[in-house]
Amino acid sequence: MDSCGFDSTGREFSSAAEMWAHEIGVAATAPASAAVAEAAPASAAASNGDAGEEAYGDGKRKEWYSKAISYWQGVEASTEGVLGGYGCVNDVDVKGSDAFLRPLLAERFGTAKRHLVALDCGSGIGRVTKNFLLRHFNEVDLVEPVSHFLEAAREKLTGCMEVGQDTNKAANFYCVPLQDFTPEEGRYDVIWIQWCIGQLPDDDFVSFLTGQRLGLNLMDFLF
Ligand code: SAH
Repeated sequence: MDSCGFDSTGREFSSAAEMWAHEIGVAATAPASAAVAEAAPASAAASNGDAGEEAYGDGKRKEWYSKAISYWQGVEASTEGVLGGYGCVNDVDVKGSDAFLRPLLAERFGTAKRHLVALDCGSGIGRVTKNFLLRHFNEVDLVEPVSHFLEAAREKLTGCMEVGQDTNKAANFYCVPLQDFTPEEGRYDVIWIQWCIGQLPDDDFVSFLTGQRLGLNLMDFLF
């Protein structure tokens, strides 16, 4: 389904694909649209052919990521901040995640004692790790590109959480964007991505999950 609309600056697009082509450059999407032709610097595209388009696409993609980081750098390190002013959804969000994960863990890993490790992607201030992941996983690693968020997470998550007979802990704090993160092979039982995946263009998201770094099979995913 495609529909037309406007972006936050009022620029009009006839489809979502056209908007994304404008946002992240020609190289990232298949057909060049009228908006792309208009947005691409004509001289670069014409004189350099594919190389020009690729460089243009890379530039747009960098710009996309750096605009996002600048935005988050200006956001307060609080629940309200990472939830875009909707801190009130925190409780129901945690309950919903718990109801989703609990049966899956039992189904996939059984109920016998086991050591489970999760990766919290775009962890922000560690809200999800603290309220939810540490109840289920012996170790949680956090990956987050915005340093004041990650520092807030580190402060909040020092020490261990006693869960039954287990002592669960936040183990590693990585200050890296997801598209540049190289996970340790075979370390993670669950990759948790919450309120964050829209930060990555589709192709970077797919290559994060299926690429050589995580090496997952698309069948492993639950969306
Ligand atoms: N998952 C957390 C935070 C959600 S806010 C929670 O639910 O509480 C979105 C988070 O994505 C912010 O912390 C932001 O800094 C992070 N983010 C932005 N761009 C990112 C990228 N390219 N890779 C990983 N995280 C990113």
